[in-house]
Formats: sequence, structure tokens, C-alpha cells
Amino acid sequence: MANGGKELSIDRFKCAACGACVTVCRNDALMLWGAWLEIKEERCNYCSACVNICPLGALSIASSSQMPQTQSQKDA
Ligand code: SF4
Ligand code: SF4
Repeated sequence: MANGGKELSIDRFKCAACGACVTVCRNDALMLWGAWLEIKEERCNYCSACVNICPLGALSIASSSQMPQTQSQKDA
């Protein structure tokens, strides 16, 4: 994995498609298609600029080793 195990994810229930993250990303890793935010993760260097600027806290960067347990794992 080229990203060091990191992952940029979006909470689509929180995102209001304001476009602030698209504007701040220097790598053109984010694109808005109408109300749909697309993440081109292969362009992302995980600088956190988009995470910090999002007024709704819709973006987050996680390390796969720190991913929380999913509900299905807890139920198993
Ligand atoms: S800044 Fe946040 S709310 Fe605005 S488009 Fe990006 S993820 Fe969505
Ligand atoms: S973490 Fe940085 S490079 Fe990645 S999408 Fe956000 S602003 Fe762009």
C-alpha cells in the first residue's frame, strides 16, 4: 500500500457539498459532482487541509491499524 495504511474518508450524512475542501486541496484529490464529493485517494498525501477546513467535520483521516471495531465484529 502506497499510502502508509492511511485512509481519507467522508461521512456523507454530514457533507453539505459546500466545496471548501475541494478549494483547499492542492493535489486535486477532491472533486464535487453536484452534491457528490469524490475522493481521488491516489492523489492524496494526507496533509489534513481538507479535514481541518470542513465546517461540518465530514472528513477524517484514519490509519487502518487504528480503525475502530465495526458493529458486526462486536456482534459476532
Ligand atoms: S468541506 Fe466538508 S461539507 Fe464541504 S464539501 Fe468538503 S466534506 Fe463536504
Ligand atoms: S488530505 Fe490534503 S491532499 Fe488529501 S484530499 Fe485532503 S487536502 Fe487533498
